[in-house]
Amino acid sequence: MTNYVTFAGHRVLTNSVCIICKHIFSRESAPKLILHEEDGTFQVTCGNGHFDAADFNVVGFGHISDVLPNSDELAYLPIGHEAEEVRDGVWDVKIISTDDEN
Ligand SMILES: [Zn+2]
Repeated sequence: MTNYVTFAGHRVLTNSVCIICKHIFSRESAPKLILHEEDGTFQVTCGNGHFDAADFNVVGFGHISDVLPNSDELAYLPIGHEAEEVRDGVWDVKIISTDDEN
């Protein structure tokens, strides 16, 4: 059986790979920065510093769909774009920048 969830204007397989930070994984923090990578994967982090591979977990998308912003808050996130929560429930969408790595 194939299951999908709808997120940011995309139909996403619940078992597709998603990269999340350990704080989201543990439900310690809410998502603040969501990247829709060129290969179609989503990366979801809390916006705190994560500079180590150990700070990230790879999960199935269905495992985090409950903590993601809903379509009223984040209607559409194109591939190659990132969304940052600038204040409660308000997401700023722009092309992914690589400037702030490291
Ligand atoms: Zn985090």
